[in-house]
Amino acid sequence: MKIDVTKASELKALPDESSLGFGTIFTDHMLKMDYDQENGWSNPRIEPYGPISMDPANLTLHYSQTVFEGLKAYRTEKGDIQLFRPLDNLKRLNRSSGALCMPPLDEEMVLDGMKELLRLEEKWVPSQPGTSLYIRPLLIAMDPYLGLRTSHTYLFYIILSPVGAYYAEGFNPVKIWVTKDYVRAVRGGVGNAKTGGNYAASLYATAEANQQGYTQVLWLDGVELKYIEEVGAMNIFFVINDEIITPQLNGSILPGITRDSVIKLAKEWGMKVTEKRISIDEIIEASENGSLNEVFGSGTAAVISPVGEIKYGDKIIDINNGEVGTYAQRFMDELTGIQYGAKPDPMGWVVPV
Ligand SMILES: *Cc1c(COP(=O)(O)O)cnc(C)c1O
Repeated sequence: MKIDVTKASELKALPDESSLGFGTIFTDHMLKMDYDQENGWSNPRIEPYGPISMDPANLTLHYSQTVFEGLKAYRTEKGDIQLFRPLDNLKRLNRSSGALCMPPLDEEMVLDGMKELLRLEEKWVPSQPGTSLYIRPLLIAMDPYLGLRTSHTYLFYIILSPVGAYYAEGFNPVKIWVTKDYVRAVRGGVGNAKTGGNYAASLYATAEANQQGYTQVLWLDGVELKYIEEVGAMNIFFVINDEIITPQLNGSILPGITRDSVIKLAKEWGMKVTEKRISIDEIIEASENGSLNEVFGSGTAAVISPVGEIKYGDKIIDINNGEVGTYAQRFMDELTGIQYGAKPDPMGWVVPV
């Protein structure tokens, strides 16, 4: 695939790596590709980063026919740049877009384009511990049309953002709030797709959680408000006695690549790991009888995020005295070790850029 490259005439100053937040700074260039019914995907190009012009009647703006991905480029000790399971992200992008009637992308071709963009923006990959270059692929409908139907034209692009810790807490345990009133997604809906509407649906409950001093919402199932689903942008794991339990994928939970990596590592290490339906009542019971040892979230942004407290109604569940548990620590060390090239990669997850 030949990618046309138009370089930015002026380059931005690189940010101070010691104070990177999440998702506020963007690099000099972006990758773009167009779709129409006649040509399919065409005109792959790298352009200066900048605003996109769209019609006020653009379908995405009105009806959210849009999907995205999130992955990271890591700088190794030696200075090389590498990706973690990028084809899994691109496969998920195609599963998400399929759920919204959007045309599939050629995964290998997009990976090649992503690598080319990364090589051009090489100096934007930070090297301080815990930092990385976040990669955000996005696919949006482009038809200007107010009738409700599938778009005939699309824009795909990839933007890059140097990032530090996702949560202000860093690797310290976060506090999460279980909502009894709101649901994020239901079975038969699009909860397992990374599509904008799911996140719009989560804003109100998250604001309520924040108001009460909690970082994130822990969602229950959309039908009975009883079984645990996941956190805002993370999957969730419980360690009860010495069993690692995570909700089974049911169509309304986002199938996280970090989740899958935790499960594979746990199996590799001979740990007992179970994917099953688990209710909030079982978690409360485990907490009360002393068998709930740890809770942690998993996702690309924070990798592993220990949970120190869960609030459900007027019950406050303290977890591991609000301290980082040994399981969370071990998964964090192993995953980041592989991602940054400090540990061997027996699963073949790493892809050099
Ligand atoms: C992206 C995301 C996750 C985590 O997926 P990873 O592939 O591990 O980054 C979990 N839940 C939701 C709702 C997400 O959007």
